[in-house]
Amino acid sequence: MLSGVVGHEKVKRVLHNSYFEGRVGHAYIFEGPKGVGRLSAAKAFSRLLLCENPQNGNACGKCKSCSMCESGNHPDVSIVTNQLYDQSKKSTDVLVDTIRNMKKDVYIKPYHSQRKIYIIPKADTMNMYAQNSLLKVLEEPPAYCTIILIAENSNMFLPTVLSRTVSVRFFPLSDVDVEEYLKKNYPALSENATAIAAMSAGSIGKSKMLCESPELVKMRDGLVECFEDLLGEKKRSIYDFVLFLKQNKDDFEIMRDILQGIFCDLLHIKNTGDFEHITNPDKVSKLKKFNEQMNKSVPEKLLEILLKYNEYFLKNISYAQIAQCLGVELWEAIHDRSYRCEI
Ligand SMILES: [Zn+2]
Repeated sequence: MLSGVVGHEKVKRVLHNSYFEGRVGHAYIFEGPKGVGRLSAAKAFSRLLLCENPQNGNACGKCKSCSMCESGNHPDVSIVTNQLYDQSKKSTDVLVDTIRNMKKDVYIKPYHSQRKIYIIPKADTMNMYAQNSLLKVLEEPPAYCTIILIAENSNMFLPTVLSRTVSVRFFPLSDVDVEEYLKKNYPALSENATAIAAMSAGSIGKSKMLCESPELVKMRDGLVECFEDLLGEKKRSIYDFVLFLKQNKDDFEIMRDILQGIFCDLLHIKNTGDFEHITNPDKVSKLKKFNEQMNKSVPEKLLEILLKYNEYFLKNISYAQIAQCLGVELWEAIHDRSYRCEI
């Protein structure tokens, strides 16, 4: 069903049923977080709708239409961006001019298939004028037309747009789904796939970015090493940890996810004694060592501190200061004593 789309069984069922029952809508909103596969699902749905010889409710993958979809050259499928109609446009928000150009195209009959499909990524960046312009098509769409709006937040749409579209909600994928995808597409990762899946927060897009960036794998190793030093008695360990956070400031969210994965593993190990169902299986020997070095209550405290500092990082407080305090608080939780001088 909707081949190539990872997970999202409920979404697939809904789209599939509408296809089978001949109730394909004129307009959809595919709403969900970035990187979970909304665009892939829109493309796979288009492929199915346009396939000349569908088999058991799947696109055949062989017909002219399927092969044109595969190569991204189907004349009746448009991925609507500002640059599609005007290459000089730099804005990433979908502009009213773009929607006006799209509308001119909508009323021209399909060139090859029975249908014409418009996929609009970042549709929730359309301002009121762009949405009102689109509304005209949503009110009187040609019978052959299907429009798929890709959005992170459907609250950005006018009620008049919402009332004329079918909402399809995408949730973050499970770690298992992401891991399966990684094992299939990046076989060289082997056991790193579990850790990367856990760091990806249910997003295939993010997992791909992590896989394709060896620096990030190096960063994870570096961070684990810094954390190892925090556990020991090395004097400058807090300084080194803070320095590491500062040097990788732009990747704070990734570092947070790495630390969170490590702390969750430690909590799981403390509570269950199980070393098999952890998110960092390639670091199992380190985790064993860390576990031996800390009291039962420590992992939970570390998670609480990380959560607290995550909120500080999101606010506009000096990054360097927060990094420093985070390092000190983690050290204090691990060693169960203060690192500050009494005044
Ligand atoms: Zn086909």
